[in-house]
Amino acid sequence: MRNTLICTAKEKGSYYICSGCSGCKISKINELVKKLNYKALYVLKGGRTIEKIIKEQKPKAIVGVACFSEGYQAFKILKDKNVAVQFVPLKKDGCTNTDIDMKEAEMILKYKN
Ligand code: SF4
Repeated sequence: MRNTLICTAKEKGSYYICSGCSGCKISKINELVKKLNYKALYVLKGGRTIEKIIKEQKPKAIVGVACFSEGYQAFKILKDKNVAVQFVPLKKDGCTNTDIDMKEAEMILKYKN
């Protein structure tokens, strides 16, 4: 989803921290995440980074955005980790120029039980 032509996100090894340059929809997601008091937003280079973040941050819950295949892999990784998981599948997947339905993302990010 990152606009790699103008992205100013800080690279931190296996993930990026969005700087909110408004170059892609991640900026809007980042604003919403902050407003809803989520702990952090990570832009991952690959699904296996989830394990590293679980070890470092010990989250109680995660909302993931990914293609269906990566999302499925993430559910498998998180199956025994005692972490609540929600997933927003990309509406256009692939390796570049991916896209998300912002209404769906907002609905899931705002969901509380
Ligand atoms: S909004 Fe964030 S992720 Fe998107 S291009 Fe800008 S810095 Fe990169």
